[in-house]
Amino acid sequence: MTTLVVVLGLVAVAGVPYLVWTRLEARKHKRAAIIHQDTLSLGEDLVPASIHPEVDLDECIGSGACVRACPEKDILAITDGRARLLNPLSCIGHSACMQACPVGAIKLVFGTATRGVELPRLTPSFETTQPGIFVIGELSGIGLIRNAVEQGRQAAVTIFRSSRRGRPGELDAIVVGAGPAGIAAALALIAHGLKVQIVDQDRYGGTVTHYPRSKVVMTGSFELPGYGSIRRKTMTKEQLLVLEAIHADGPSWRLVGPGWQDRAASVVLALGRRGAPRKLGVPGEELAKVAYRLIEPEPFADQHVLIVGGGNAAADCAIALARAKLCTSVSISYRRAELARLRSLVRKDIERCFAAGTIVPLLGTEVVSIAERHVTLQTAEGMRQLINDRVIVQIGGQPPSELLRTIGIELVEKRGEA
Ligand SMILES: Cc1cc2nc3c(=O)[nH]c(=O)nc-3n(C[C@H](O)[C@H](O)[C@H](O)COP(=O)(O)OP(=O)(O)OC[C@H]3O[C@@H](n4cnc5c(N)ncnc54)[C@H](O)[C@@H]3O)c2cc1C
Repeated sequence: MTTLVVVLGLVAVAGVPYLVWTRLEARKHKRAAIIHQDTLSLGEDLVPASIHPEVDLDECIGSGACVRACPEKDILAITDGRARLLNPLSCIGHSACMQACPVGAIKLVFGTATRGVELPRLTPSFETTQPGIFVIGELSGIGLIRNAVEQGRQAAVTIFRSSRRGRPGELDAIVVGAGPAGIAAALALIAHGLKVQIVDQDRYGGTVTHYPRSKVVMTGSFELPGYGSIRRKTMTKEQLLVLEAIHADGPSWRLVGPGWQDRAASVVLALGRRGAPRKLGVPGEELAKVAYRLIEPEPFADQHVLIVGGGNAAADCAIALARAKLCTSVSISYRRAELARLRSLVRKDIERCFAAGTIVPLLGTEVVSIAERHVTLQTAEGMRQLINDRVIVQIGGQPPSELLRTIGIELVEKRGEA
């Protein structure tokens, strides 16, 4: 009798956690299956421009080793006993999944069989088909900070060893993009004694400065010979210069953007992959209250915020603000009567916010002008003024490959290849 009680007790002690665990696992798999269906339905829209994993479903044994190894956590999941890509756009190419797979079922590729990704044709030292123009970092197709830094260093060594030097009044090199790749290249060029300038349309630091607050940045080994840690004072950076075009100028290059131009013998393009945010093109858009991304909700506290756009990015942004419960009001303006091509979980979340009144849907409206204290919207009923403190525009971006093409740099299309 005593033995039976002990056995039953042990079964109960072990069984309850097991039951809880299986329920949690089942819920996780159900959620993964929904996201996977979304990913399939959004299909081509979700092909990342940089390297990402491709799972061979015939080889995959569903061990989950890749899911556990992924540092970004929500990229892969097991559904129906196989690893699936849930969130390919967030993959940054750590390759940890590929290394962890016990049966070699994962490879890292660019593009897919049906949708190619265009990458610049580069020499091993990252020079493009235009002599003296280099492409490094994520724009070359390879992600990760440590790779960006290493490419920057290698490009700088090649420029230093070449005979390309600026004519009187010109720079030896201009680096466009002050992310990890551009900073590394500029520092290495300066270390070699070259006359260098680095320009960026945004803040110093590139994509790294837009990571969510709690993001852990794994840089791997980050060596900048002769410098050690990177300090802001180490180089000159012209704030907020957007590169729009590059023209040949004898043996040098002339770089042009709104309100500036400069000449240099070599150009290092370290533009990343995010591209320039698409603008509304309405009066008042130049006001400081207009932003093109949400990093943290705190700066929007106690303000009337309008998000403009109808895709996942705009919806995610509105949901994040509504959840933070800091804003006086959160509205979303989209020119169509319905939000477009949302992932189903995002749609559920935003509809819940609409129902709860935490996000005001302004569908079928178009922003026609922006002023300090209000925004004017074109609606089906005519013009409407909305009290407003901040506007966040989320209507996509212009891919940097367009800029590369205008410079005459040869691009190669990759369709699911390494
Ligand atoms: C959410 C997230 C998390 C990540 N986590 C990690 C991580 O943990 N570890 C890791 O190693 N990597 C991580 N990555 C990847 C890493 O951030 C990138 O690989 C790296 O930033 C690429 O560096 P880059 O210098 O090539 O480009 P970027 O960092 O994107 O910098 C490009 C710069 O170019 C500027 N620019 C672009 N176009 C123009 C123009 N026309 N004129 C002027 N300036 C222009 C931009 O403003 C930007 O400052 C993460 C990425 C994201 C999005």
